[in-house]
Amino acid sequence: MIRHPSPNFGPRRNGLRPELVVLHYTQMPDVPSALERLCALEAQVSAHYLIGADGRVWQLVEETARAWHAGAGSWGGRGDVNSRSIGIELDNDGASPFAAPQMQALEALLGGVLHRWAIPPAGVIAHSDMAPERKQDPGPRFDWRRLALLGLSIWPRPGGDAGTPLPVSLDRLGYPEVAPPLRLAAFRLRFRPGAQGPEAPIDRAAAADLVAQLEVANTDRSAPGTVSPHRDRYRTTQQVRRSVRGDGI
Ligand SMILES: [Zn+2]
Repeated sequence: MIRHPSPNFGPRRNGLRPELVVLHYTQMPDVPSALERLCALEAQVSAHYLIGADGRVWQLVEETARAWHAGAGSWGGRGDVNSRSIGIELDNDGASPFAAPQMQALEALLGGVLHRWAIPPAGVIAHSDMAPERKQDPGPRFDWRRLALLGLSIWPRPGGDAGTPLPVSLDRLGYPEVAPPLRLAAFRLRFRPGAQGPEAPIDRAAAADLVAQLEVANTDRSAPGTVSPHRDRYRTTQQVRRSVRGDGI
């Protein structure tokens, strides 16, 4: 972990604390240009972390502070995503695949962040999820399924109910109320990359299954006297650190 403080942050507002992690790509040619922009006063943007293609991790803003990465948008019907999230930028030009060392570093970092703030896997979202009218990142090449297999995100299983209207599921998942084609495009960008054409039964089935996963998780988390199953799926920060070798963490 390399400290590289950005001046672009403030206090989290209204006592809010991180309950989401928003993933981004930098859409810049390399780490030096991304660091320069994320630390330039006039740019007024930042993130908590930047992960290089080689797996090195820069911390720009303390997790307790409000970094300026999400901008206008909402998730779960609530705005000021910056006050409610941790922002992670991935060094990627927007067209290239994400490198294996970068994904490994992200997984280690995410494991620690989710554990420290008790954020469930469903709380890890794309910038394009919360700002579908403006944003595409981290884009169709990002491997969300891989994160979900590690308990670091969610991914649809086969067999969801294709009879559930898509808007109902997308509302439940947290998507902002934008024009239906934009919502469908944002949902597919993340969960059905490459899918084209009008809404299909498989879109509805996938979204309904994600909602079903959320509802099971919420039931488990709210049951008194029980420990959330998510917690067991996270390695501790120490375990994550031990599992990563030679990538700067
Ligand atoms: Zn972004």
